[in-house]
Amino acid sequence: MTSSELRSLFLNFFQERGHAVVASSPLIPGNDPTLLFTNAGMVQFKDVFLGREERGYVRAASSQRCVRAGGKHNDLENVGYTARHHTFFEMLGNFSFGDYFKRDAIRYAWEFLTGVLGLPPERLWITVYDQDTEAAAIWLNEVGIDPNRFSRIGTKDNFWSMGDTGPCGPCTEIFYDHGAHIAGGPPGSPDEDGDRYIEIWNLVFMQYDRSADGTLTPLPKPSVDTGMGLERIAAVAQGVHSNYEIDLFRTLVQAAAELAGLSNTDNSSLRVLADHIRSCAFLVADGVLPSNEGRGYVLRRIIRRAIRHGYKLGIRDVFFYKLVAPLCAEMGEAYPELVAARATVEQVLRKEEERFAETLDQGMKILETHLKGLSGTVIPGETVFQLYDTYGFPVDLTADIAREHGLTPDLAGFEKAMEAQRERARAASHFAVDYSQDVAVDVHCQFTGYTHLADDARVVALLKGGK
Ligand code: ATP
Ligand code: MG
Ligand code: MG
Ligand code: MG
Repeated sequence: MTSSELRSLFLNFFQERGHAVVASSPLIPGNDPTLLFTNAGMVQFKDVFLGREERGYVRAASSQRCVRAGGKHNDLENVGYTARHHTFFEMLGNFSFGDYFKRDAIRYAWEFLTGVLGLPPERLWITVYDQDTEAAAIWLNEVGIDPNRFSRIGTKDNFWSMGDTGPCGPCTEIFYDHGAHIAGGPPGSPDEDGDRYIEIWNLVFMQYDRSADGTLTPLPKPSVDTGMGLERIAAVAQGVHSNYEIDLFRTLVQAAAELAGLSNTDNSSLRVLADHIRSCAFLVADGVLPSNEGRGYVLRRIIRRAIRHGYKLGIRDVFFYKLVAPLCAEMGEAYPELVAARATVEQVLRKEEERFAETLDQGMKILETHLKGLSGTVIPGETVFQLYDTYGFPVDLTADIAREHGLTPDLAGFEKAMEAQRERARAASHFAVDYSQDVAVDVHCQFTGYTHLADDARVVALLKGGK
């Protein structure tokens, strides 16, 4: 079963059960300035959950394009390392706006997985929020789940929220056991971080609206919001472990391998390229352009990471935009807007690559020299800052390289160097240009301006979080 067939199967299943099939919304949320990107299927329905908007239906289903590369949900650092994370993915979801609640949501999910897809129940593992006795009773007493494949979990994993504010609630998650030959323990166990048990579907029972001060206000009507990664369920349906082995990704990985002149496709940089072309192309198609702040800076960071991985594979010419064609071939039917934007996407990626290529090579050589002379496992903050300031290496890009060498960047030192630079600029501004204002990027990335410093500070904070 191809990914496309699976998408249709899911939407048809819920359509037959009274759900309106709603098209994916763009990656830039139309109704929420607090959210960087659409990161879940529920985003376009946020106001419906909050009771602020009425639609002509109380049940919906969608296949929503999502990006998780910034903000509350950020999986950028996982790409290339886990079998299940992408920066861009499609989230299949069914929604109830004050219509059905826990019982039907659980039953539909179980019927789709075991009935329609025919997955063996003994391969599935269920978790519930530890205080949600109602959901636990439905699973154990009504569905008849084996208590040995069932766990109760606290807030961290089983209380879902879109962002710091907005609709949220307890959830129940369904995992697939890919087999004992893969490392990793069941959900809730100390070694759950492996990729043996992969979360495929999250059912959120939307009950609250969280305000900025953390207060939870009950929603007008309890609702349901579910999300299942298309790529993850495709891996299960196609009998492969990693998302990168499904039909769609095999083609993209193969295309990247051809550009790199490689016959062996088992290479994490190829997987990174296959992942990054999807987020970059869809972001540009949805109107984001590389820049030094906000969404545009996230896009720039992803593009530059992709180009660096190409460099690592030995590619020395402008190449990344060439992956747009195979991507359109794979996904154009489901997303005609991507095909419509193809020429723009290629042009934008190409331009960004040409700009960065000028400094990447020099920056890499400088870094290699530094690495040779390095004692210990920490890349000094001054070096990280030099790469950032002079060669346009976003700090997460340097961190990505460091990780490959078993090293870590000195982020505190980086911040200190950045602060010193800010001080110099402030002092200089008394005499000349006011650098506290937005500064345009110069083509050589010699001076990347200050508007993105806040973004980098966030990235640094995130990296410090130990991801
Ligand atoms: P994980 O714990 O594996 O990171 P999650 O709990 O963060 O997943 P949810 O926010 O519950 O994910 O999203 C709903 C579903 O979307 C997940 O069950 C999974 O199938 C899919 N999904 C989430 N993040 C990603 C990603 N980065 N790449 C691919 N699929 C994803
Ligand atoms: Mg996650
Ligand atoms: Mg999870
Ligand atoms: Mg989840």
